[in-house]
Amino acid sequence: MGKINIAIDGPASSGKSTVAKILANDLGYIYTDTGAMYRSITYLALKHHISFSDEKKLTELIERYPISFQSTTKGQLVICDGEDITDKIREVAVTNNVSEVSAFSKVRKKLVQQQQEIAKFGGVVMDGRDIGTVVLPEAEVKIFLVASATERAKRRFKENLGKGIQEDFDVLKKEIEQRDYLDSNRQDSPLKQAEDAILIDTTGMTISEVVTAIKKVIDQKR
Ligand code: C5P
Repeated sequence: MGKINIAIDGPASSGKSTVAKILANDLGYIYTDTGAMYRSITYLALKHHISFSDEKKLTELIERYPISFQSTTKGQLVICDGEDITDKIREVAVTNNVSEVSAFSKVRKKLVQQQQEIAKFGGVVMDGRDIGTVVLPEAEVKIFLVASATERAKRRFKENLGKGIQEDFDVLKKEIEQRDYLDSNRQDSPLKQAEDAILIDTTGMTISEVVTAIKKVIDQKR
C-alpha cells in the first residue's frame, strides 16, 4: 500500500506533536513539526535583533538560515546555521512572540513551500495549524485535536516541571489562550478545522487512547 500523508492540526499544547511523533515512529513515516519552523524564525529574529514587525527582514532570515531536522537517538533535533536550537526554540521569549511572526504572509508562503516539498512523496505526519486547510489540503487523513485550555495548561505545566522550569499556572494558561486567539484570528491561514478533518477532544484521554483513535482513522484510509 502506498504511503499517505497525515495532517494533525489544533491549538497550542493540544498534544499534536506527542501523538504525531508516536504515529510517525509506528508507521515508519517522517515527522514534520511545522511549529518548530515558525519558532526557528522567531529565535533567529531575537538572535539577530530583527524586529518582529519587519516582515521583509524576517522573510530574508528563512533564505539565509535554512532549517533542517535531524533524527537522532535522542529524538528529532532542529538545526539552523550549524547550531542545535531544539531547546532554544521552546523558550518563553520565542513562544510568546511566535504568533506575531507567523501571521506574516511572506513568512508563511516560504515555510509552506518547504513543508509541501517535504510531503510531496507521501509518508509524512505533519503537525501545525493550517496543515489540513492550506499546506496539505489533499492529505488522506486529517485530524483536529482539541482539549480544554485548563487541561492544556496542566499538561504544559507538568512538562515544564519535568524540564526544571516553573512558570505560574495562571500565567501559562493566559499565554496559551492568547496564542490561540492570535493564531485563530489572523488573516492568512488561521487555525481552523478543515471541513473533512476528524475532531478529537483529548480532554481526559491518555496519549495512547488518542494514538489508538487516530490509528483507527488511518486504517480506514489505507
Ligand atoms: O506547534 P507550536 O505550538 O510549536 O507552534 C508555534 C506557533 O507557530 C503557533 O502558535 C503558530 O503561531 C505558529 N504555527 C503556524 N502554523 C503552523 C504551525 C505553527 O502559524 N502550521
